[in-house]
Amino acid sequence: MENQNVVAPESTINLAITVDVANSSNNLEMDGGARISAWVDSMRASSPKHHKSTPSLVEDQASWMGQHPSALDMFEYIIDDSKGKQIAMFLDYDGTLSPIVKDPDRAFLSDKMRATVRKLATSFPTAIVSGRSIDKLYEFVGLDELYYAGSHGMDIRGPREAGSKYKKGSEAVLTQPAIEFLPMIDEVYKELVERTKSTPGAKVENNKFCLSVHFRCVEEEKWKELVEQVGSVIKEYPTLLLKQGRKVLEIRPTIEWNKGRALEFLLESLGFANCSDVFPVYIGDDKTDEDAFKVMAFLQRLGNGCPSEGKPVYKE
Ligand SMILES: [Mg+2]
Repeated sequence: MENQNVVAPESTINLAITVDVANSSNNLEMDGGARISAWVDSMRASSPKHHKSTPSLVEDQASWMGQHPSALDMFEYIIDDSKGKQIAMFLDYDGTLSPIVKDPDRAFLSDKMRATVRKLATSFPTAIVSGRSIDKLYEFVGLDELYYAGSHGMDIRGPREAGSKYKKGSEAVLTQPAIEFLPMIDEVYKELVERTKSTPGAKVENNKFCLSVHFRCVEEEKWKELVEQVGSVIKEYPTLLLKQGRKVLEIRPTIEWNKGRALEFLLESLGFANCSDVFPVYIGDDKTDEDAFKVMAFLQRLGNGCPSEGKPVYKE
């Protein structure tokens, strides 16, 4: 069961809604059986089947929920706290706006959700922050008035609509910090497609500045084989990093950029750098969204007058 929760601010600005997924190790090298086993264990942990409600699990969950109450239960509090501030919305796509489906090419947005996002964008600056490419996101969402931060924030574009009241500046593309990796990403994409084609259900997606190897349709007994295949490609590219998301292995450049940096960049682009009059709301369900939650927590401390408690560290 997914737990959508809010990291409740004590008095000021930030809301972070997250979903409880198991921890996974980052950037494990593919240099041995133990490492590969650790990856497969992590894939299992982040792909939970139905939990048995053991007493200790119920207790742990209750304790966690006490510290991270439901956003819906806190709604009035959130509205009160946002008064006088500019709300800015940041939304993950897969698993947040659209359901996780078997075929990642069919993670369509429902008409109802599209109407909701459109309504949000007329009231607040709104961005979609996703591991998908911008082109794919736009194909699914099709709204010109949004900011799109694709490829885990490595490709950020402003609203297309000239009349959008939240459009800042005239440039459509706002930043592409990993532009020099494009030829490498294309090369690795082709190699991964070739290397993983013997694993039934594996699907490699080119997200322009990063790659996804989806394993949601791969039988569990084949996960080890898939990790070995991906590892055998990635080990030849030390400037690429392997991470794990929900039912997906992510390959991306080792630059200090992620959804957290994208969030900071977007707030700055919107004119809210070092600003206490903004109330950002980030909704996401994945491990990769945690980088953004770290930024939210930092901004919250900043808003509480505790800037020295450490800026988020992005070293992967
Ligand atoms: Mg997601």
